[in-house]
Amino acid sequence: MRISYVNGRFLPHSEASVHIEDRGYQFSDGVYEVMAVVNGAFLDGDWHLARLRYSLEQLEIAPPVAWTAFPILVRELLRRNKARDGMVYIQATRGVAKRDHAFPKNTRPSLVMTVVQPKWPSAAMMEKGVPIITAPDVRWGRRDIKSISLLPNILAKQAAARAGVREAWLVGEDGVVTEGSSTNAWIIDAKGKVVTHPANHRILGGITRLTLIQLAKEAGIPVVEKPFTVSDLRKASEAFLTSTTSLVLPVVVADGKKIGKGVVGPVTKKLQQLYADYISGL
Ligand code: PMP
Repeated sequence: MRISYVNGRFLPHSEASVHIEDRGYQFSDGVYEVMAVVNGAFLDGDWHLARLRYSLEQLEIAPPVAWTAFPILVRELLRRNKARDGMVYIQATRGVAKRDHAFPKNTRPSLVMTVVQPKWPSAAMMEKGVPIITAPDVRWGRRDIKSISLLPNILAKQAAARAGVREAWLVGEDGVVTEGSSTNAWIIDAKGKVVTHPANHRILGGITRLTLIQLAKEAGIPVVEKPFTVSDLRKASEAFLTSTTSLVLPVVVADGKKIGKGVVGPVTKKLQQLYADYISGL
């Protein structure tokens, strides 16, 4: 039976619920994390928990449980679900309180956790790459916080779904491609440099992004963290996206136009391999 965690209790998934006045439900007043479990091991678990901590701190939401308890609770959830591979979704909100915009006093934060099966990219997608579209980035100014407020992201993802593609890359008013609706965006530019947006307030600093920058550096492929524009994307020789659920996924077409030769390039292949080796070494 699928078991989920809600505020201190492990419950059958169908019975797992929070109150209608939870501030996550009414105000999107909360944050989340998605962590992969591969062969029973957490993929970059410490980084994900550090980002969760950062997101909570930025919103002044108290930790719902002691930090040391998190890995124990997640492990217990996996054990109860007999899951060795998959994803753990963690959501923490400011808690249940009478509806009032300002922070409530003495409210206990809510914590829910579920085990989910991700939509991993197919082998064909990994090998041949995927098309994407671009869409305006209409999000707020603190995208570094992994907030559950995802309306602009879901609208962009829906635009991608409607166009029959996996992802939408978001473009600011200045023409900068910030990131995907749920992934980080990368190009190999006309000069052969691997480029991705710097981890500042304009993007969510992906953990896959962070790991890949490290792996690339160790392999002698430096990554330049600087903004790139749609025009740079059109001129790029290769492109790809990263996330916990999409891994290193080549992008070969943007807005119906081929990127480079429209096939998966050598640098992307190399980075894909580095990341695959990293995961299989867990
Ligand atoms: N950007 C956004 C907006 C995301 O939602 C995600 C997925 N959580 C990412 C980037 C990739 O982050 P990660 O590599 O940590 O999954």
